[in-house]
Amino acid sequence: MSFESLGLRAELLRAVSEKGYSAPTPIQAQAIPLLLEGRDLMGGAQTGTGKTAGFTLPLLQRLMATSKPENGRRAIRALVLTPTRELAAQVADSVLTYGRYLPLRSTVVFGGVSINPQKQKLIKGVDILVATPGRLLDHVSQRSVDLSKVDILVLDEADRMLDMGFIRDIRKVLALLPKHKQTLLFSATFSTEIKQLANGLLNSPALVEVAQQNTSSELVSQIVHPVDKGRKRELLSFLIGSNNWKQVLVFTRTKHGANRLSEQLATDGITAAAIHGNKSQGARTKALADFKSGKVRVLVATDIAARGLDISQLPHVVNYELPNIAEDYVHRIGRTGRAGNEGEAMSLVCVDEKGLLKDIERLIKRDIPKKIFDGFEPDPSIKPEPINKGRGGRQQQSSKNSAGRKSSPGRNNQRAPFKGNAGRGQPQNRSRRNTQNAR
Ligand code: AMP
Repeated sequence: MSFESLGLRAELLRAVSEKGYSAPTPIQAQAIPLLLEGRDLMGGAQTGTGKTAGFTLPLLQRLMATSKPENGRRAIRALVLTPTRELAAQVADSVLTYGRYLPLRSTVVFGGVSINPQKQKLIKGVDILVATPGRLLDHVSQRSVDLSKVDILVLDEADRMLDMGFIRDIRKVLALLPKHKQTLLFSATFSTEIKQLANGLLNSPALVEVAQQNTSSELVSQIVHPVDKGRKRELLSFLIGSNNWKQVLVFTRTKHGANRLSEQLATDGITAAAIHGNKSQGARTKALADFKSGKVRVLVATDIAARGLDISQLPHVVNYELPNIAEDYVHRIGRTGRAGNEGEAMSLVCVDEKGLLKDIERLIKRDIPKKIFDGFEPDPSIKPEPINKGRGGRQQQSSKNSAGRKSSPGRNNQRAPFKGNAGRGQPQNRSRRNTQNAR
């Protein structure tokens, strides 16, 4: 199978070949012909499958084939919604890369940066807009976007947008779009909520699924290292140092934990940066750039911040703490083994996390091999302590952070319990926080 046989125009083939792709990935081979026909699509694809080119290439081609700018003025004819700023920036880069030989204009809007330069670009007119939902609504309320001419809508990583509490924002955006349009929805998992959203939105969609739902990528070798909680950092430094790893993505459950671990690694002589929702957009971009360029060896991330990060050929992913939601494990390890490269995902698991590990193994339908390191044997006298399992790490993250701010620095506040009726107040809280995160 070649890109030429998919029916793409010469300008797109040229851009693809300059990118060095020799053949379409399975999702590209399946989705591109259907999308060129104008079909709606429900795409089940993990990150790293090449789904971005899978929707961007046909999107560009269809925009070229349909109407020209009206009265010389461009209108937004394609809208791509993503959950995080990083993913928005990456998709926007792909649009620029694949569209470099076409006379189409695009821009990206997300929060955390000034709105005015975004407005200037929008006023000049764009054909394609990539956006996070919160900032897009800011532009709607400031009348800097007109969504009434959208022909193609892409909801990328829809499951994560719902997880992050964006459903209301998405519905508000949908209400501003024309009824007749081509709609694409990509999701790594298909919950009832996603199916409901899809049912109301998609018109006889083609279904394209490349990796079986909720199974972890075949190219990623997975291993669990049982270890006491208090010795995880030591083991991590040992693994990085003794294997001479140059590029490691490490996951923690909380923003506070990410900061603390990156500081501690620095004291072990390992360059590290943290990336999470409390960091300014500038700091997030810099941390990612430093990690990609090899300036820092370790990027410590929370689940939300890491979502959508495309770091090519990332060899090592470490779960310093297991996620509260088993699906997040699949997303995390999807950061390695991307686009045909082999990767290694290891989890440092303490006695508290045994239940979380069981949930993950049930989800991926296999047991993950365990290996205890000499000198790091877990102390059998340590009793498990409970881990709060809210409806997702995000709730817990905000709860823990507020707890973290109150406690003294360096004290272990990983396990601050929810107080009083926090459970009832949480959903709104969660939604607001996360909206801020992506705005
Ligand atoms: P995505 O799943 O869209 O985030 O893409 C994951 C990675 O695969 C990105 O680094 C892409 O540049 C790369 N990629 C996309 N399509 C291909 C292809 N046909 N051949 C090789 N690499 C690709």
